[in-house]
Amino acid sequence: MRNLFQKLADRLQAFKDRLSVRAQITAAVAAMVIALVGALATGAAFVSYRNTAELVNTRLASVASTTAERLDRYMALRQQEVHLFSKLEPMRPLWQGDHASLRKALEQLQSSFTDFAWIGFAKPDGTVVASTGGMLEGASVAQRPWFRTGLHDPIVGDVHEAALLSSLLAKRADGEPHRFVDIALPVRDTDGNLLGVLGAHLDWQWARNLIASAEANDGGTDTTLSVLSRAGAVLVGPGTTTTKYSGDRLGDILRTRTGAFTEKPADQNLLTAYYVSRGHRDYQGLNWIVTASQPSDVALAAAVHSAKTILVIGAIAGLVGVILAFFIARQIARPIHAITLEADRIGRASGPTMLPRQNGSLEVVQLTRALRSLLRRIGFAEERTKEAELRATENAMQFKDDLTKLRRLADTDYLTDLMNRRAFLAAADDAMEFAHRYKRNIATLMIDIDHFKKINDNHGHHVGDVAIKRIAEIISSNIKSTDRAARFGGEEFVVLLREADELTAQALANRIRNAIELAIIGEGETRISATVSIGIALIADSDRDVQDMIERADQGLYVAKNTGRNRCFFMPASEDRSIRAA
Ligand code: GH3
Ligand code: MG
Ligand code: MG
Repeated sequence: MRNLFQKLADRLQAFKDRLSVRAQITAAVAAMVIALVGALATGAAFVSYRNTAELVNTRLASVASTTAERLDRYMALRQQEVHLFSKLEPMRPLWQGDHASLRKALEQLQSSFTDFAWIGFAKPDGTVVASTGGMLEGASVAQRPWFRTGLHDPIVGDVHEAALLSSLLAKRADGEPHRFVDIALPVRDTDGNLLGVLGAHLDWQWARNLIASAEANDGGTDTTLSVLSRAGAVLVGPGTTTTKYSGDRLGDILRTRTGAFTEKPADQNLLTAYYVSRGHRDYQGLNWIVTASQPSDVALAAAVHSAKTILVIGAIAGLVGVILAFFIARQIARPIHAITLEADRIGRASGPTMLPRQNGSLEVVQLTRALRSLLRRIGFAEERTKEAELRATENAMQFKDDLTKLRRLADTDYLTDLMNRRAFLAAADDAMEFAHRYKRNIATLMIDIDHFKKINDNHGHHVGDVAIKRIAEIISSNIKSTDRAARFGGEEFVVLLREADELTAQALANRIRNAIELAIIGEGETRISATVSIGIALIADSDRDVQDMIERADQGLYVAKNTGRNRCFFMPASEDRSIRAA
């Protein structure tokens, strides 16, 4: 399970990494806007729908209650009229007098209240003695509920058909049977003795008219009003005489007495409000149920329309929100995009080295500031590195210079500035090898100051040194730049001559010897002269190395010393070693 979540989180992360900030902000804001506007619009539409439904119910309930009250008031008035009539003083003699006069009085009553279909007076035995139009006179109504109750109490009976009376009355235009509501009460003399029962039949048509006028008053709303008996049977309205409500529904209606519900009697939804009549003053009421119904599509058309309008406005607002989100996101992402482009160019050949300042938000300003500072630090570090490299190069060059100097120092004799023995031998080895390979001549001179000890002894060691230096100078100035001269220790010098044959070597040796002999050496008061003896040797094929040639020059020097000093002696290679004086 945890693995699955981890995988999902990774996927989401990978997906987000592929989405630009602009797309992410747009998507997030769009989702938010759609959710918010959707919730608001749906909520508003629902509230508007519910309020309208409540309004409709209230209106229907008020129509039902007004109609019920009008029915009751009408019934109460009729009951009152009949009561009043029975108690009228001038009527007293008529109840027991002649029937024609009574009939006349009854007909007068009927003519002023045309809704009475029939008014009659029956004796206590049930025989009708007088009635309007003489109808049912002589007939017995002893079995009629109104009569039986009317014998001892006033009664208002519920709607019923009266077969006997119907046959006597003219047929109704709509073909429906005559229906009546009975009002009856006992008539007594001043002593309280029962004289008979006064009964009146109200033609139910008045209720139909009342309902029709109430419906008309409510004009254009498709409201249908019905009057039901307390048993649920339709007294006025569609489906007359059928039972509209029964069981729980009827029980609920009678218990709550007023309210509303939704029903679906056919293929149409109806909003129905009901009101159970409560009577009026003395009139107890018959618990008639007045219902006001309206098809819900008509009743709630306005609500549906306003809900639709709200949803459309919500959808437009959502769309505008998403478009705005897109532009806002682009605005927010623009500096980041610009920074990315600029940063990408940095470091490429001859590209810029600094980011331009960007603004747009605190984060962007901080980011450019941080990046600019980073770039400055990188630049500084780069300069430092270059400087260090330069210094290292300088140091290396200095070192090389020092090394050259050191090497020269190591190769140089400290007193005379000539080469020392080690440097000379290395150079001579190279020259020897070269001469062997290319069959060139080289020669060596071995020079030693004559009786040097005496100079030291007579003039001091310092003057000896001066003499060594001076003689070195003379040797140096008499040789070519390609030749090499070295001090071999003490007051002995060796000279290597390139491209020199025996004659050239001897000539040079003599020139050096001569120059030294002529030179005045010394400083201040001390003036001395010196001579040198020189041994000469030429390269020979038999020479294994330069030492062999030096060795021969040394032998030549030995000969020069032994044969009088201040002279040169050429020592030939062993194969033609005949001694020749220079
Ligand atoms: P010869 O004619 O036989 O060469 O006699 P010589 O006196 O010159 O004898 P040799 O060449 O053997 O003498 C070398 C002397 O040179 C010995 C030493 O006291 C002296 N000497 C060697 N090196 C130096 C130096 O650097 N300075 C001075 N002042 N004297 C030196
Ligand atoms: Mg010597
Ligand atoms: Mg010497």
